[in-house]
Amino acid sequence: MSYDYDLFVIGAGSGGVRAGRISASYGARVAVAEDTYLGGTCVNVGCVPKKLFVYGSHYHEDFADAAAYGWDVEPKGFHWPRLRDNKNQEIERLNGVYQNLLDGAGVDTKLGTARLKDAHTVVMDDAEYTAENILVATGSWPTVPDVPGKEHVITSNEAFHLENFPEKVVVVGGGYIAVEFAGIFNGLGVETELVYRGPLFLRGFDEGVREFVAEELRNTGINLRFETTVERIEADGDRKVVHLNNGEALTADLVMYATGRAAKTDGLGLEALGVERTAKGGIKVDDFYQSSVPSIYALGDVIDRFQLTPVAIAEGMCLAANLFTDREPAKVNYDNIPTAVFCQPNIGTVGPTEEAARELYPNLQVYQSEFRPMKHTMTGRSERTMMKLLVNADDDRVVGAHMVGPEAGEIIQGLGVAITAGATKAHFDQTVGIHPTAAEEFVTMREPAR
Ligand SMILES: Cc1cc2nc3c(=O)[nH]c(=O)nc-3n(C[C@H](O)[C@H](O)[C@H](O)COP(=O)(O)OP(=O)(O)OC[C@H]3O[C@@H](n4cnc5c(N)ncnc54)[C@H](O)[C@@H]3O)c2cc1C
Repeated sequence: MSYDYDLFVIGAGSGGVRAGRISASYGARVAVAEDTYLGGTCVNVGCVPKKLFVYGSHYHEDFADAAAYGWDVEPKGFHWPRLRDNKNQEIERLNGVYQNLLDGAGVDTKLGTARLKDAHTVVMDDAEYTAENILVATGSWPTVPDVPGKEHVITSNEAFHLENFPEKVVVVGGGYIAVEFAGIFNGLGVETELVYRGPLFLRGFDEGVREFVAEELRNTGINLRFETTVERIEADGDRKVVHLNNGEALTADLVMYATGRAAKTDGLGLEALGVERTAKGGIKVDDFYQSSVPSIYALGDVIDRFQLTPVAIAEGMCLAANLFTDREPAKVNYDNIPTAVFCQPNIGTVGPTEEAARELYPNLQVYQSEFRPMKHTMTGRSERTMMKLLVNADDDRVVGAHMVGPEAGEIIQGLGVAITAGATKAHFDQTVGIHPTAAEEFVTMREPAR
C-alpha cells in the first residue's frame, strides 16, 4: 500500500513542527496541518507573548529605581494598545518564521482543521490524505471549572488580546500561569488580586521557594488570597463581582481563570478509532509516543506529561529519529528538566524539591543563601534573592538547584548542564565565580544550612 505521506502531523505547535521538520530532514515525506496559528500555543498565546508582557510590566519598577542612579524619569503613562499591537506584530513575524522553517524543510503545510478517518487517513474539509504514520500534536486548551457566572471570565488565551485594559483584575488559580499573569497585571499598574483554593500556590515547586515568592509578590503589591474559592461571578454593568467563600465580594474589570489546561482532542475522531486515553483525558502513549493504535503517535501537551515547550520539542526530535533513522528507538530523558516561572522576581529550578530530595537522598545537605540584589542596595527596594543547592552527601553530587531572583531562568539553565553532567559540590567549589554577580553565590556557598 502506498501512502500520500510517510508522516502526517496534526498541529503546527512546538512539538508538531519539530517532529515534522526533523522527519523531513531524514528524507520522510511530511505534511503538517494547522487550524489556528503556526507555532502553536507557545508562539501565539503562551511563552513568547507572555515573556514580552513580563518585560513590558517590569519597566514600572525600572523607572522608579532609576532615580537612585541619577536618572530623573517621569513616566507619562502606560499605553496598552501599543504593547498589545507591537506584541502582535512580533508574533506575526514569528508565524512567518515558522512557515519558512516548514517550507525550507520541504514539509507541506495544510491550513485547516484535521481529523482522523481511520488509522492511516486524515480528513480536512473535502480533502483526504493517507499516511503511514499520523502524529497528533494538538496541544492543550484552558479549562474553567463549572462555577456559576463562568461566562464572565477570560482565560490566558483572551488576556493576550484585550480590547480594554482593566484597572482591577482578579486572577483565579495557583499554577505558574496564574502567578505570571498576576505579576504582569500588577507591573502594568493594575490592582491585582490572586485567589487560590490551596494553602500556598505553585504546588510541585520547592516549599521554601513557594513561601519566598509569596512574600516577594505581596511586597510588590499583589493581594494573595489563599484557601479561598470563588462561589459565583456576576456582571455589574461592565464590571464583574466575584463572590468568595468567605462572604467577601471583589469587584473587578476583569476576571481571569488560570486553573488548568486539558488535552485538545475534541473532534479528532480518536474514540471511534479506539485510541486510549489517560485518566486526565490525554492521549495514552508508550515510551516511544505510540498510542494504542500502532500507526498513530502523540506527543507534547496532548499526552499531558510535562506541559512545556522544550519537552514537546525533545519528544518531537526523538520520535522523528525513532521513525526515520535506523538507530535503536530511544526515549526522552525526563530527569532534571530545568524550568522557570516568570513571576517577578523570577523562579529558576532544576532537580527535585528539597522535600522530594530528602526522600531520595537520606544524607541530603542544603546550601542556602538569601540576600538583597546589589542593584537594590542603591534603590532601597526591598526585593530579595534566594538560592538553594541540594547535595547528596553520600557521593557529593549536586542533585538540585533552586533560585528566586532576577534572571533566575538564565542562571539555572547553566546549572542544569552541570547537574545533568553529574557535577559534585567539589566541582562547584572549584569553579571560580564571576564577580560581581548573583550567580557567583552558587559557587561560593561553603557551609550547609541544614
Ligand atoms: C500562558 C502560557 C504560558 C506558557 N509559558 C511557557 C513557558 O514560559 N515555557 C514553556 O516551556 N512552556 C510554556 N507554556 C507551555 C507551552 O506553550 C506548551 O507546552 C507547548 O506549546 C506545547 O506544544 P505542543 O506542540 O504540544 O502544542 P501547541 O503548541 O499547543 O500546538 C498545538 C497546535 O495544534 C493545533 N491544532 C489543534 N487541533 C487541531 C486540529 N484538529 N487540526 C489542525 N490543527 C490543530 C493548534 O491550533 C496548535 O497550533 C505556556 C503555555 C501557556 C498557555
